[in-house]
Amino acid sequence: MLNIAIFGAPGVGKGTQSALIEKKYNLVHISTGDILREETSKGTELGLKAKSYMEQGQLIPDDLIIGMLEKKVDENINAEGILYDGFPRTVKQAEALDVMFEKKGLKLDTFLCLTADHDTLVARLLNRAKDSGRADDADVNVIENRIKVYNEQTLPVAEYYKNQGKSVEINGIGEITDIFNTICEAIDKVK
Ligand code: AMP
Repeated sequence: MLNIAIFGAPGVGKGTQSALIEKKYNLVHISTGDILREETSKGTELGLKAKSYMEQGQLIPDDLIIGMLEKKVDENINAEGILYDGFPRTVKQAEALDVMFEKKGLKLDTFLCLTADHDTLVARLLNRAKDSGRADDADVNVIENRIKVYNEQTLPVAEYYKNQGKSVEINGIGEITDIFNTICEAIDKVK
């Protein structure tokens, strides 16, 4: 089973690239943001707990996310592979993922780290807000907070995987197909 994580700041293009990767490699796409939005719209207990954090651009507490993620992996344990999008977002989540993989006899095959500069991220998110209907994309203050949270709490995850020799840095600025081709080269190396 192939396990790939796609990583990067909000607006870097994880969702766009995930849709292409998922299709080409026949992977199950687990986006923790999408799952949480679904839970909030359904008004489940988890959704209610997550709502205010999401509105402010803060991270959901690690224990809630880790439990939710493991449940999704268990549901898809017979899949050809899984693409993790928006997870892990803290070093604690990355450590928990390693423990979970170990327990299940799995491993992370590659960590795709997409990059883009601050102004590009903000412009893309504001543009996305026109179609996404996401309140956290429409408010500049929330966007700035999400980028700040990313830099402070999430970026150390890139270092964690660099130390494991699993991180591949990908320039997230350019044509979608060019970025996708670079991603495919990285995936084909570990496949
Ligand atoms: P995203 O769709 O990935 O931009 O995520 C939207 C929001 O969901 C984030 O701003 C967080 O509030 C929450 N979220 C998504 N994934 C995680 C995660 N792995 N850890 C904590 N919070 C998360």
